[in-house]
Amino acid sequence: MVKHINVTSRSRTEFIDITEAVREVVKNSRVTSGVCHLFVLHTTAAITINEGADPNVMRDMNGFLNRLVPTDPYFTHAEGNSDAHIKSTLVGGSETIFIDEGRLVLGTWQAIYFCEFDGPRQRKVSVKVV
Ligand code: ZN
Repeated sequence: MVKHINVTSRSRTEFIDITEAVREVVKNSRVTSGVCHLFVLHTTAAITINEGADPNVMRDMNGFLNRLVPTDPYFTHAEGNSDAHIKSTLVGGSETIFIDEGRLVLGTWQAIYFCEFDGPRQRKVSVKVV
């Protein structure tokens, strides 16, 4: 069965820590050894795993991606959010994390981030625990 994590973004571009929400899904699945697949159901958002200790890391990443992919007027997509589509593909829409002894196997400093590139919006991440 596929579960969903609802995410509410509050800025156009933003990294939201969803680690605890994913841990909750894994806990409720009662799977003690397996994998947790995460998939973003959007074309202008992404998912990544990176440092959860210093919020400046994700602030820097957000700032860098905004400079890397500006909202340039030469884009042809009529919706005007090609920058968000490009960032979505660059960062990627899925992650897979091992589960051992009923817990996500993450490094000490790692956290799971939903990456908003065209907010604010209501978003969904699908989760499959196997
Ligand atoms: Zn679009």
